[in-house]
Amino acid sequence: MQLADRLKRFSEPQTIRMAKLSRELKAQGLDIIDLSLGEPDFRTPEHICNAATEAMNAGYTKYPPVAGIPELRAAICTKLQRDNGLQYAPEEVMVSTGAKQSLANAILCTINPGDEVIIPTPFWVTYGALVQLAEGTNVFVDCTIDTDFKITPAQLEAAITEKTRMFIFSSPCNPTGTVYSKEDLAALVAVFERYPNILVISDEIYEYINFRGGHESIAQFPSMRNRTVVVNGFSKGFAMTGWRLGYMAGPKEIVQACEKFQGQFTSGANSISQRAGVVALTGDMAPTKLMTEAFLQRRDFIIPALANIPGVKINNPEGAFYAFPDISSFFGKSFGETTINNDEEMAMYLLHEGHVTTVMGSAFGANRCLRLSFATSMGNLENAVKRIAEALGKLK
Ligand code: PMP
Repeated sequence: MQLADRLKRFSEPQTIRMAKLSRELKAQGLDIIDLSLGEPDFRTPEHICNAATEAMNAGYTKYPPVAGIPELRAAICTKLQRDNGLQYAPEEVMVSTGAKQSLANAILCTINPGDEVIIPTPFWVTYGALVQLAEGTNVFVDCTIDTDFKITPAQLEAAITEKTRMFIFSSPCNPTGTVYSKEDLAALVAVFERYPNILVISDEIYEYINFRGGHESIAQFPSMRNRTVVVNGFSKGFAMTGWRLGYMAGPKEIVQACEKFQGQFTSGANSISQRAGVVALTGDMAPTKLMTEAFLQRRDFIIPALANIPGVKINNPEGAFYAFPDISSFFGKSFGETTINNDEEMAMYLLHEGHVTTVMGSAFGANRCLRLSFATSMGNLENAVKRIAEALGKLK
């Protein structure tokens, strides 16, 4: 069977591969605790589900406009003003099948072959793959636990060349939980102001899962407003991963280009999800706050618990729902026949020896780390930490 060469430019996300492996082992009857997937373990709030039922009953089952139903585009503008102090007209926002499609649209509609895209590591798996698909060049900048995984202005400036076209980052960050403060962003903006041709993609999908309070968007800086694409969605803050609904806000030319692109790819997001999305953005935020409180409690359990394991080094995430421990002190150690040489072997060891599924840090450009999602029950987290501590303790 002949398959297209472009498939060779990127691989299946490791997050999805690990979840698949985990399901296979569970199907064999093993008691596996899966900490691999980035998905809230809560149900979508009832008022949002009811809005979908009503939408179906009212006949909102036809093709929606490609860029999104007017009610949702308007609700997104209201939300951006209310929560972020950002002013956008409906023509400057576009709805897609998940934030993932918004990112794909933005990257594939602006990157030409050879354009350089600066991505601070650790980064969310899909950015690099989409840049490769667009035949751009990824320029990864290594950010370490010493700066809480934040890129410094000096690192940013050093990575910029004449070919730099884009900068992509997430705050709160998947996988590190790092949150950029207004001051952190201001320091990066001072660099961007010297390089007006660089477009910024600001992935804000974990906006509401923020433990320090107060989300800041780089688009709030007047000099960045017309060169930033803000990407956001419903999956995390409203526990709506399966509804596949996300959006972008940005310069009109880019939004129009993305509309043309999306018109050939998906014809836009699901009409029923979109009606529910209006209610999510304009309705009761109490369920979102409750979920965030639960994530905070779990963070306050799992981070100290992991930090207590001898050999584990870890930052304290201020947002999202991931722990990202550095486990490189175990590289070279063995248990029985098994020697752990890298993050992938560690993830496999913890799966087979500890029955806990994690994701190797190299999937996020950080091969000394593992990512553990704490979007699961306290009971699961307590057991998982016990198993991990035990498995790591066996390595000599
Ligand atoms: N950006 C980041 C940083 C994410 O973690 C995810 C989901 N894991 C997405 C985007 C994509 O979200 P969606 O479900 O809206 O496609």
